[in-house]
Amino acid sequence: MLIKTYGAAVQGIDALIVTVEAFAETGFSFSLVGMADTAVKESYQRVQSAIMQSGYKWPRRRLVVNLSPADVRKEGAAYDLPIAIGVLASCEQISPAIPLDSFMFMGELSLDGSLLPIKGALPMAIKARELGFRGMIVPVANATEAAVVNNLEVYGMSSLREVIDFVAGMSVPEPVMVDTRAEFSRAQSVFDCDFAEVKGQESVKRAFEVACAGGHNILMVGPPGAGKSMMAKRVPTILPPLSLSEALETTKIHSVAGKLKTGSRLMTVRPFRSPHHSISSVALVGGGTNPVPGEISLAHNGVLFLDEFPEFSRQVLEVMRQPLEDRHITIARAKYTIDYPAGFMLVASMNPCPCGFYNHPTKECTCSSAAVQKYFNRISGPLLDRIDLQVEIMPVPFEELSSAREGERSEDIKKRVVSARLIQEERFRSEPAVHCNAQMSSRLLKLHASLDEEGMSTLREAMKRLDMSARAYDRILKVARTIADLDYATREGFNPADRKILVETASKPVAVHHIREALSYRNLDRGSWGQTVSKLPF
Ligand SMILES: [Zn+2]
Repeated sequence: MLIKTYGAAVQGIDALIVTVEAFAETGFSFSLVGMADTAVKESYQRVQSAIMQSGYKWPRRRLVVNLSPADVRKEGAAYDLPIAIGVLASCEQISPAIPLDSFMFMGELSLDGSLLPIKGALPMAIKARELGFRGMIVPVANATEAAVVNNLEVYGMSSLREVIDFVAGMSVPEPVMVDTRAEFSRAQSVFDCDFAEVKGQESVKRAFEVACAGGHNILMVGPPGAGKSMMAKRVPTILPPLSLSEALETTKIHSVAGKLKTGSRLMTVRPFRSPHHSISSVALVGGGTNPVPGEISLAHNGVLFLDEFPEFSRQVLEVMRQPLEDRHITIARAKYTIDYPAGFMLVASMNPCPCGFYNHPTKECTCSSAAVQKYFNRISGPLLDRIDLQVEIMPVPFEELSSAREGERSEDIKKRVVSARLIQEERFRSEPAVHCNAQMSSRLLKLHASLDEEGMSTLREAMKRLDMSARAYDRILKVARTIADLDYATREGFNPADRKILVETASKPVAVHHIREALSYRNLDRGSWGQTVSKLPF
């Protein structure tokens, strides 16, 4: 007889429903049809062994299994479970006590019948609920992940035998329950580090506050031991909290990539990814034969930290350029394309020269000036162009370190960042694709960051004196806009809860002192790197 079971295929970070039709008649053969990859085609071996190890017989029938729709690519071994249930039911070895069309089944079978974890359980569960399925059966390792979707009965099972018992009505297991909303509101702002632990470095911390407030990318230049990684790691602690929909989107990406740990639920804090500089371009931006999201997508809604920036291969850095601008990446294959979100804040760091001590207050640099220049040239202009803030970081002298008081807490910095972001949301209310100052186009810059005569002449003068590239101009304006927002957000009378005040604040001007501060975050623009010691003329 003909039996239909249901599974899902992942496309990008969403899922599509896949119907598994199993048909048994007289004869003895097995065929699988419907655009399946090698792993799916091999399921015959796994399903056969798993069925026999679970105490059932492999039917002496002619079996046809069809995965539809045929034009959707199905990859991986996760169809083993719906195929196995379909085969057993079609030759009447089990008679379902549950309505098979109300449940989704996904899971890879090992030869002994145990269920192995799958990728993409979360988007599959979202799809199942969307289509009105009553429940979903997944490997136990994926159960809490799928149960993030409420109003769907999610059952985590560890073997085919358990699933058969459930389908045949011989057991009544409890669905896995996760109260996503309650957990989400509880788990916000739980970090194991804080900016308060960073002593001194006030100007660098300020640069990070500005970067986070406007969503700007930032590059730190400084010797080893200056605390670059320490700074970077704390960036998520001052970024605005994730919204529920951001959290869901980020978790979906990690689910599809198979990067969620067993027992994972919703990711409630912004991701922080720090791939090693030996990473391949595929691992960074995503791709492969069966495409998976890369680091830039795993960092979506969070931070991508690239330490030792010039050590990354030129090719790797180049492939990052486009997604850095577009905030998503498209992976094209002969028969299909896949789109992954990639909206991250880039935090990069580098030594000032190959030996690391160029410009160091106490240590001697052993590099020739040509070597220093060459080191910098490894980062291409167009890439550097997408980094709004470039700051120098120096180690804090020991005497200062021991006497310095504890720094400001991340929670307090975050409050200012959140206020500045609310002003920006108000400013860009009619621009659905723009959320923060860093995303402003030239048109929006003209509209929202115009300068008065004094500001204009200061900027012109500075650009000439410091020999800045014309490219730097827009970057400085964007950062100045953010500095102005932070400034107005901390003035007396500002109230982020008052819409009228937000609207007013959003249209306040960029002043000359905002421009001056923004100029101080363009270390690498001041002529060649060899001249950075020259201080600003004000
Ligand atoms: Zn050196």
